[in-house]
Amino acid sequence: LTGSDAHMSPAEKEIDKALRPLDFSDFTGQEKVVENLKIFVEAARRRGEALDHVLLHGPPGLGKTTLSHIIANSLNSNIKITSGPVLDKPSDLAGLLTNLEQNDVLFIDEIHRLNPIVEEYLYSAMEDYKIDIMLDSGPNARTVQIGLNPFTLIGATTRSGLLTAPLRARFGINSRLEYYDSALLTSIVKRSSEILGSPIHEDAAFEIARRSRGTPRIANNLLRRTRDFAQVKGDGTITVEIAKFALNALDVDQNGLDEMDIRILTTIIEKFKGGPVGLSTIATACGDEAETIEEVYEPFLIQEGYIMRTSRGREATAAAYRHLGKIPPQQIGT
Ligand code: ADP
Repeated sequence: LTGSDAHMSPAEKEIDKALRPLDFSDFTGQEKVVENLKIFVEAARRRGEALDHVLLHGPPGLGKTTLSHIIANSLNSNIKITSGPVLDKPSDLAGLLTNLEQNDVLFIDEIHRLNPIVEEYLYSAMEDYKIDIMLDSGPNARTVQIGLNPFTLIGATTRSGLLTAPLRARFGINSRLEYYDSALLTSIVKRSSEILGSPIHEDAAFEIARRSRGTPRIANNLLRRTRDFAQVKGDGTITVEIAKFALNALDVDQNGLDEMDIRILTTIIEKFKGGPVGLSTIATACGDEAETIEEVYEPFLIQEGYIMRTSRGREATAAAYRHLGKIPPQQIGT
């Protein structure tokens, strides 16, 4: 439930598309980020210029892709979508860049995972809208510089710390998305259920919202699953009883922690005496990748006060012990 869209069926992708806000006015929350972006977009539009390059960072599912589409729509521009790991060599990037029309948006997801050679190639494109292209090979090989249409690069990353300084410096706009509070997620759940044509009670929307790890993508996923329960077990209306039943059946606990969250906390407490323990050790013990734990699970667990990050590794807090029904050791603060 927490992961990306990679494992979605075509039908689910259709629903996902239907739920995606198309306009700044449909986009709930992230007020400061949105206010600023609106001004920068409007200014660029009035000048008829390409918007400055934008870096969006924050945990998965908070709306980076959605915002990029909204930015392109507001600029009346096309958007081309790709991702860091997909761009193998400079020519992959050159193909995309040379096909951009004036003021178009190029969205690169997971930009921290760009191959360094491709990344370097991006620099002159971002800075001067120019790239070098290799003509011929062997003894006749030569490079020519060609000009690109002015464009906006939007880079999305879950790990802005992994971006190199030269790349980071080339983004004029740098915005960080935060987890959503329950009130915002409640309105997102209500909006989504309206689009899906599923009646939902206010308290049911709130129940789903507060158990969605602060993440719209998860809220929408839980809503879709809850809707299945409402249609099969009830009359289609999502009541708070149905929501609770569905969430329990989906292994989402009272505070919205999922199976993996619980596994991470249990591992730190039971196998490593509450820590400190290194990330890669936790990952091995939990059977997941360190990167996934660091990008997807840990930020929420830290924000909610279940884990502390110290120089010697991760430590479970007293709240984590209590949440698992255990007595916290004396020396750990709250
Ligand atoms: P990211 O690119 O950060 O991983 P996405 O933009 O793909 O996240 O968002 C995941 C899903 O959550 C989208 O399909 C969209 O429907 C929903 N979503 C994200 N942010 C919002 C928001 N602010 N308001 C309403 N729905 C949102």
